[in-house]
Amino acid sequence: GAHNIFFLTIMFLSCIAIRFNLCLSSVPSSLRALPFGGHFNFDQVSLGHAARDFGNRYQYHPMAVLHPESVSDIADTIKHIWLMGSSSHLTVAARGHGHSLHGQAQTHGGVVINMESLKVPEMHVHVGNSPYVDVSGGELWINILHETLRHGMTPRSWTDYLHLTVGGTLSNAGVSGQAFRHGPQISNVQQLEIVTGTGEVVNCSAEHNGELFHSVLGGLGQFGIITRARIVLEPAPTMVKWIRVLYSDFTAFTRDQERLISTKNAFDYIEGFVIINRTGLLNNWRLSFNPQDPVQASHFKSDGRTLFCLELAKYFNFEQIDIVNQEVEEHLSYLSYIPSTLFSTEVTYVDFLDRVHVSEVKLRSKGLWDVPHPWLNLLIPKSKIHKFAEVVFGNILTETSNGPVLIYPVNKSKWDNRTSVVIPEEDILYLVAFLTSAVPSSNGTDGLEHILSQNKRILEYCERAQLGAKQYLPHYNTQEEWRAHFGPQWETFLQRKSVYDPLHILAPGHRIFQKAI
Ligand code: FAD
Repeated sequence: GAHNIFFLTIMFLSCIAIRFNLCLSSVPSSLRALPFGGHFNFDQVSLGHAARDFGNRYQYHPMAVLHPESVSDIADTIKHIWLMGSSSHLTVAARGHGHSLHGQAQTHGGVVINMESLKVPEMHVHVGNSPYVDVSGGELWINILHETLRHGMTPRSWTDYLHLTVGGTLSNAGVSGQAFRHGPQISNVQQLEIVTGTGEVVNCSAEHNGELFHSVLGGLGQFGIITRARIVLEPAPTMVKWIRVLYSDFTAFTRDQERLISTKNAFDYIEGFVIINRTGLLNNWRLSFNPQDPVQASHFKSDGRTLFCLELAKYFNFEQIDIVNQEVEEHLSYLSYIPSTLFSTEVTYVDFLDRVHVSEVKLRSKGLWDVPHPWLNLLIPKSKIHKFAEVVFGNILTETSNGPVLIYPVNKSKWDNRTSVVIPEEDILYLVAFLTSAVPSSNGTDGLEHILSQNKRILEYCERAQLGAKQYLPHYNTQEEWRAHFGPQWETFLQRKSVYDPLHILAPGHRIFQKAI
């Protein structure tokens, strides 16, 4: 007994001493002193880089940028800040590829962890009955694609753009044209390794530490830093048949989309987009897509009309081409698109998945990639999508020349309601993504204010008409708004935060919680 009391007293005193020391010492040097394999950067160039993101509208400079070499570099940093308690203002933001839109991977005066520096574990593809790959939380999806293909395997669920990190997309959901069948990326993960807001390293899965596992998926980085993920794989195809058809009738368009997402094995990817007041669109497609009926297609005039483009893909291997063509023809025969507007092409699987990167290279060369991106992403319940389309595509949006407007349905049954992500209550949800760029124009404006006011009108309409819409990649400024976003899930979210990040150290860029000082 006496021995134990002595031991506890020493522990207690040393904890106080550590806290006291940390408060007194200047923070960068106390961090610098940690025994790291990785390193910190404190220079203005590094801090400036960590203060930027794809949205290009928010810029908060951190105090330091950590380039971790191991998970313990991350755990030690967070534990160090945790031990300082509320005497320190320091917060920590994991930064994946910095493709957030509203400063979500930034921290004002805190520590940014550059997750791409974390190269452990080395990617390990496990081929067998239930194939998977273990990857670092800072790994880019494009690298995972290339590595798994070397083993004839591939992840099943993607985002439209692959130069994003595993930790970044799993913190949101990760949605693309495969989600109707496989669910979002957060439905295709088996295990995670997490560093929590108290600096503990925890392995978790649905069965083991399930509460942490589900909290982190779609958890906006609030509960821990994803340092490793086990991603489900399937055998990879080599080729993709990629198809576009047009509709002028929104009802026919959504009817066909909904039919396709519930038809087994029809297509492997289903998306769609809206075309408002655009000319010459088909001429652009002709560069890469072939019209099935060139003569009729050449008479088709898109000018001025609002059109809806259904985009489909079917995966195949070379030897299956004849069967695939037959199957595709059969599935297309049930659809009600404008007959002269069937365009298709065949590309490699990698070229299909990495398609947005081609646009990135083009836009970069014209200096149009690093412009502000006031994106708005919404999930709309199926029963309200017609009302939404009538008002938004009919009245609010007058053109789609600022960037694509995607619209496609997903099956809610493929989403796990134990995760943190917030989605509307209905079996089928439409993702509507306004992917706008504020491009400088000759008259000196970049259209940013115009796009922002359009976004505001769309959000106000959703609110007023009580559509039950939810923002995807949500962005709010006050806790009140966050509370409304989470609705009945708010209490769970708060509870999870109090367990895994009680001092509100992690992911301050979302402005959901404020560190109490
Ligand atoms: P960052 O912007 O660096 O971080 C995002 C958030 O996650 C931050 O809060 C950060 O703190 C946190 N975070 C980062 N890494 C970790 C980690 N390891 N552990 C815990 N938290 C972490 N999304 C889709 O779902 N579908 C799409 O098709 C799609 N297409 C896109 C196309 C483009 C061109 C762009 C720019 C974005 C697209 N997105 C899409 C959105 C994208 O998924 C998110 O912006 C994502 O957050 C970006 O990943 P990132 O690695 O750049 O993360």
